[in-house]
This record gives sequence, structure tokens and C-alpha cells, in this order.
Amino acid sequence: MLIIWGLGVFYHTIAQGAFFCRKCGGDRRYRRRAGRRFITLFFIPLVPLGKTGEHVQCATCKTRYVTEVLRLPTAAQMERALPAGMRALVSVILRAGDPASPAARRRAIEAVTGAGAQDYDDAALEADLAQSAGAGRQAIAMLGAQLQVHAREWHLAELIRIAMADGPLTGAQRAAIESVAADLGLTQAQAVGVITLTAQGAGQS
Ligand SMILES: [Zn+2]
Repeated sequence: MLIIWGLGVFYHTIAQGAFFCRKCGGDRRYRRRAGRRFITLFFIPLVPLGKTGEHVQCATCKTRYVTEVLRLPTAAQMERALPAGMRALVSVILRAGDPASPAARRRAIEAVTGAGAQDYDDAALEADLAQSAGAGRQAIAMLGAQLQVHAREWHLAELIRIAMADGPLTGAQRAAIESVAADLGLTQAQAVGVITLTAQGAGQS
């Protein structure tokens, strides 16, 4: 009888979850798998050898990825980050000015509904404004991390237009805008550039 020895890598699942699969183009289940080399006898693992690296495999298309792929946000996370970040942004800017200003509140609500939270209204805004000032910083940072520089600048300009809905920028509003710009991942030079351009566009400089 011929005895068949061989070498093989055998994987086992060490974690599961949801991730964004570039190949399928959507949120999918994944299995995180660790492998180990074995000497096999009749294709059955017999003698364990060294470990191989871990990988992440899409449960749908079976594509394997390096584990760093799990650091990327899922499509669902990105979808939530946009309105959540915008809510945090408008709260910061309203607190720095007159939070009771009807014109500023209207613009703020438009900005949040435009970001995808269609049912956002004045009551929801009031609840957001009652949160502590630091509560939204993480949401702002998460939003910034998912946007290209150009889109971060667009969001900052949107904020400046809300701040100027009832008059020229005050020193406190300008300071809040610069602080938020840093949380979004913009440099101070980029922030000053956006403030200057947006204020000029509105006839104030
Ligand atoms: Zn896939």
C-alpha cells in the first residue's frame, strides 16, 4: 500500500463580522481565519508545523484580504457617519452664536436633512443642542476621516454659511469654526482659506 505524505495549510475561523468587500462592492459577512501548516497523511493533517498569517475572507465571493481591511468603515458606517457628523457640526456652530436664531436653525436643519437624516427637525436639533459641547467631537472626527480634503472644506463652508445666516461671523463663531476644522482634519491654513472665501462669497470679509 502506498502511503501518501504531504504538506497542507488548514484554516480555522477565529472571528466573524461585517465588512465592506471591494470585490462584491458592498457590506458582507466575513470570516477572519488563522492558518497552520501540517504534515498530512492521506490528506489528513497529522503533524502541526508553524502558523501562517491570518486573513479575512468574504463569505460571499470568497476573496481573501489582509486583516487591515477590517479597519475600513463599512458602507453602513459611512452612511451613518454623514448625518451624525453634520448634526455634531451644526450644534457646535449654533452654540458659538445665537442658538435661538430662526434663520440659523433653519439652515442647520437643512444641512442635516441634506446629509441624509430626512426626519431631522427642530425638536431633534433642540435635543442635540442640550448635549455637552464635547459630545460630538468623535462624530466630527469620524466624518472627517471618511472625506477627501475637498469635501471637508465643503462641510466647513456649509457651517460658515449657517453661522452667517443672521449676520457677520463673530470672534466666537470664527474660533469654533477653526476648532471644528481641526477636528475634521483640516490644517489651520485650509480653515482660514475656507473662512475667507466663504465670507467673501456672502459679501462679508
Ligand atoms: Zn466579497
